Amino acid sequence: MTPTLAPIDVSPRVDRLRAAMTGTGPDALLVTRLPNIRYLTGFSGSAAMLLVGPDAEWFVTDGRYRDQSSQQLRAAGSRATIEIGATQAEQLDALRREIAAFERLGLEAHGVTWAQQRLFGERFTPCELVATTDVVESIRRVKEPAEVERIRAACGIADDALAAVGGGIANGPTERELALALEIEMRRRGASGTSFETIVASGPNGALPHHRPSDRRVERNELVVIDFGCVVDGYCSDMTRTVSVGRPNAEAQRLYDVVLEAQQAGRDAVRAGVACVDVDRSCRDRIVAAGWGEAFSHGTGHGVGLEIHEAPRVASTSRDTLAAGHVVTVEPGVYLPGVGGVRIEDTVVVTDDGCIALTASPKDLVL
Ligand code: ZN
Ligand code: ZN
Repeated sequence: MTPTLAPIDVSPRVDRLRAAMTGTGPDALLVTRLPNIRYLTGFSGSAAMLLVGPDAEWFVTDGRYRDQSSQQLRAAGSRATIEIGATQAEQLDALRREIAAFERLGLEAHGVTWAQQRLFGERFTPCELVATTDVVESIRRVKEPAEVERIRAACGIADDALAAVGGGIANGPTERELALALEIEMRRRGASGTSFETIVASGPNGALPHHRPSDRRVERNELVVIDFGCVVDGYCSDMTRTVSVGRPNAEAQRLYDVVLEAQQAGRDAVRAGVACVDVDRSCRDRIVAAGWGEAFSHGTGHGVGLEIHEAPRVASTSRDTLAAGHVVTVEPGVYLPGVGGVRIEDTVVVTDDGCIALTASPKDLVL
C-alpha cells in the first residue's frame, strides 16, 4: 500500500532558485540533471530539460511524456511552459527560441556530457555557455516538511521490512536471498523500488563496504552487514544494521561496541550550525582511539533526498555546515580484511538543538 502524502508545491523552489542565481553570472539556467528537474517541476520521467529564465520557465520533453508531464507539472504547481519535441533537434529548437533572449546560459557542469556541451554550443550560439555547480543542489539541501515526510515514510518502510525478514536470518539464507526478501517486503509496503543496490555482506564479505550480495549463506556467530533503503514518491531512505545469529567471538563483539559508540557520538554531534567535519571527527575519534582508524575507510555520512547521495557531505574533507532541515546519514564502519566488518547507519533530520532519527530499527547485535 502506498502511503498517503501531503502534496508538494514546487513554485517556491523556483523562486528560491532565481534568488540564488541573481548576480552570479548567467541570465538563465538550463537544468539537465533529472533529480533537479523533478525538484523544480514534479516531473518523474526519464527525459526532459528545464530552462529557467528570470521571469519564466520552459520544460521540454518528448512525446512519450506529453500527458504525464502536463499532469505532473500541474499537480506540483509548476508554471513552466511545456514544449514537446519528437526529436532532440526539435527540442533544442524550442529551447533556442527562448535562449535567444539571453546572453549567458548556465549549464550544470556535473550533469552535462562532453557531447551535450558541444551540441549546446553549436545550437545556442551566440549565447555564451557558463559552467555552474550545485546551484539547484544547494537549494535542495534544506528539506521542506513534505520532503521529510516522504523520507520518513521510506525509512519506516525499511524498518518494517527488516523487522519482517529479521527472524528468517536464523534459517541461513544466502546473501542474495536475504537482499531479495528485504526488497520484496519494501515493495509490498508501498516503496516504488530500492534507493540503491541492497548490500548484504556476511562474515569475511563484511570487510568490503559495498559488497554485492552473493550465494554465500549467512552462518551462525558471524557479523552480517545489511545496508539498504527504498524510495517513496521519489525520496530515498538509507539504513545499515549489523547483526549476528548467535553471539560472535570477542573481537567481533568489541568491533561492534566501538562502532556503535562512534555512531552514537556522531549522532550526538549533529545539530544546526555544526561543521560536518566536526560530526565526522566525533565518530572517527572513537574508532581511532580503539586502534581501527585506518579501517574506517569512508566518510561518516551524506545528505539524503531525491538522490541517495546528495549534499551535504559529512566527511573529514567536507566544507559544509549543517542547517535545520538537512537530512543526513551517520554511518561509521570498520572493515578488517579476512575478518569482516561492522557498519551502523541512521538517517536523521537536523534540528536547531540536535537531530531526529528517521530510521528506528533496533541496534541489538545478536538476533
Ligand atoms: Zn547505507
Ligand atoms: Zn549511506
